[in-house]
Amino acid sequence: MIHVIGGGLAGSEITYQLAKAGYEVVLHEMRPKIKTGVHKTDKLAELVCSNSLKSKELKNASGLLKNELETIGSFVLEVAKHNAIPGGKALVVDREAFSDEITKTIESLPNVKIVREEVVGIQPKGNNNIWVIATGPATSPKLYSWVRENFGEGAHFFDAVAPIVKANTIDVSKTFLANRYEEGTDYINCPLNKEEYIRFREELVKAKTLPIEGFDKKLLFSRCQPIEEIAKSGLDSMRFGPLRPVGLKDSNGKRAYAVVQLRRDNSVGSLYNIVGFQTRLKWGEQDRVFRMIPALRNAEIVRYGVMHANVYIEPYKVTDEFFRAKKFEKGGMLFFAGQITGVEGYVESIASGLYVSMNILRILEGKTPITFPQKSMIGALMNYVAHTPNLKPMYANFGLIDKKSVETVFNMKKMLSL
Ligand SMILES: Cc1cc2nc3c(=O)[nH]c(=O)nc-3n(C[C@H](O)[C@H](O)[C@H](O)COP(=O)(O)OP(=O)(O)OC[C@H]3O[C@@H](n4cnc5c(N)ncnc54)[C@H](O)[C@@H]3O)c2cc1C
Repeated sequence: MIHVIGGGLAGSEITYQLAKAGYEVVLHEMRPKIKTGVHKTDKLAELVCSNSLKSKELKNASGLLKNELETIGSFVLEVAKHNAIPGGKALVVDREAFSDEITKTIESLPNVKIVREEVVGIQPKGNNNIWVIATGPATSPKLYSWVRENFGEGAHFFDAVAPIVKANTIDVSKTFLANRYEEGTDYINCPLNKEEYIRFREELVKAKTLPIEGFDKKLLFSRCQPIEEIAKSGLDSMRFGPLRPVGLKDSNGKRAYAVVQLRRDNSVGSLYNIVGFQTRLKWGEQDRVFRMIPALRNAEIVRYGVMHANVYIEPYKVTDEFFRAKKFEKGGMLFFAGQITGVEGYVESIASGLYVSMNILRILEGKTPITFPQKSMIGALMNYVAHTPNLKPMYANFGLIDKKSVETVFNMKKMLSL
């Protein structure tokens, strides 16, 4: 029997791949009985923050990784493409429709049993069970302490979520539609002139934030800095960051002093998220300060930004290169998958799930587990995360592989026929 703990992006990919191959799978998901600090629904594979799976372009590291996942046959990525909504060069999805389709598909698989319960530890029963811990950055404290007791300290960092506003509360007369650096009208752009920007920044840097236990700025994830921290780092930091006007011209071809971008959050276009506005501000402060943006002066926030601690293990100490625990019960096997392994990001968590499921299948078929070539993005990312001491969360980037020798995608198929 295979037990997958965590019905998120990695857990859903693993459950689907193993069930499709004909194996009995028990998927343990604690929501809705036990809440995490970031999930809002009881659906599988919920996207906790942005609804973007980043660039689709092959010349972009995330684009290349998505292309590899598609070639290898990722279920979650296929569903993402099936629920894509306008988003320029990025693969942007209707988050509700995406999670709905994954939940319904997995619920319909006859050899999958979904158990809505919190797993607080794994009691070895010596009957060749395979367990996968895919409980993500918001792993419940009880299970995380079991992991630490059995596998050592692990690590954590802080990540945050951006707010979502109602489309019909945006003052569109103070906006323009445009995509950055390309033709298109997928994004609503809210310009600020110099005075408006300076006033907005002044209020942002002194706005009240929510206290978070153990919060330490040094542990903020570099690519997910809260907007208020960016504002505090310098007068123009936001104008070179989430409010950068570059590549955006209004209908008169004019470039604003600063621009806040809104990205559609669902296919009907009734919800928009504020791009790059992940925040730790108190909710009342989010209302007060974000309404200083002219186009958002009457905006109604339907999901407020929040900050959350992200926990992960250190595979370098705990697992082999297939993310199989070095020490576990005789006969049984325990794997870790998804963001708890130290990858960072939706696509990276899906990739980790696919990689772990592929090797569980090989082991069950009596084949030796394999690694992907390091000339591929998935190969380089898994290799880095598995072998790096003092690991900091890692996402797809070309720094992991030497760009010149990127193994073209189709070689993956040849390699998999081993
Ligand atoms: C605040 C925040 C914002 C983020 N924003 C982004 C973003 O904008 N873009 C991006 O690419 N990535 C983002 N991430 C990172 C990451 O991509 C996601 O967290 C992703 O969902 C990780 O996938 P996963 O499958 O590893 O875990 P998850 O998708 O989180 O799934 C884990 C599942 O395990 C369940 N679970 C936890 N503990 C237990 C237990 N003891 N028993 C049973 N079930 C359990 C949870 O309920 C959850 O459903 C963010 C993460 C956080 C925390």
